[in-house]
Amino acid sequence: MKFIDKIIGLIAPHHCIICNAEGTILCQACYLSEFINQVSACFICEKATVDSKVCDKCTSKTPIRRLRVSTYLDPHVQKLIYNLKFSRTYACARRIAEILDDTSPLLFSNTVVTFVPSSPSRMRARGYDHAKLIAKEFARIRGLKCKPLLSKTNNSRQVGANKKQRLQQARSSYRLKSRQVELDSPIILIDDIVTTGATLGACAELLKKAGYKDVSCMAFAKKF
Ligand SMILES: [Zn+2]
Ligand SMILES: [Zn+2]
Repeated sequence: MKFIDKIIGLIAPHHCIICNAEGTILCQACYLSEFINQVSACFICEKATVDSKVCDKCTSKTPIRRLRVSTYLDPHVQKLIYNLKFSRTYACARRIAEILDDTSPLLFSNTVVTFVPSSPSRMRARGYDHAKLIAKEFARIRGLKCKPLLSKTNNSRQVGANKKQRLQQARSSYRLKSRQVELDSPIILIDDIVTTGATLGACAELLKKAGYKDVSCMAFAKKF
C-alpha cells in the first residue's frame, strides 16, 4: 500500500461505495451481490466463446483476438472508476485488481502485464496513471512482471468520433517503447473501461507488429 493511501485511510477511512461499511472501498458482500460479472464471450457480438476469444465472424472488425472483461459498467462500477480517477485512487486500483484476479483464469508464469498509458499531460495533472496502478497491482497479486511497453504521444480525445475515426485516432496516439520483454512472453494488456475497443485494439496491434506472439486484452468494465 502506498504511504499516502495509508495516511488517507487513517484520517478518513475508506467506506464501501455501496453499503458504506468501513474499511474497504467495496466490500465483498456488495461485490458478490451487486456486480454482474461478464461471462466468457466475444466482446463485439457477445456470443459465448472459449476464454473470451473474439469469434470468427468478428475477427475482421478488430485487431483484438481475446478480451477478458470483469464486469458491466453499471452505476456502482462507474462510481468505483470515478473514485479511481479522482479521489481514492490507490484503494480503488487495488480493489479493481482483486476483481480482475477473481475473474481471470490461470496465466503462464512468464506472462508480462502491461497497460494502456495515459497521456503525459493527464499524468502531470493527476500525478499518476490509473491503468498502470491497476496493472501493477494485478501483476503483484499474480506474481507476474509488469512492464510499460507503450507510451501515449498526444492528447487527442475520442469523444464524438465514429468507430473508424476512433481507431484511426487511437493508432496515431500510441507508440511502442523500446523492447523490454522476450517476444515469446504472453502479454496481458490492461485498461479500465472498454467501449468500442478502439484504444485496446490499436495498442494490441502495435504490440503484435513489434513481434509479440500472444497478446490478450483485459478490461475491468465494459459499457453496455
Ligand atoms: Zn458494501
Ligand atoms: Zn463476435
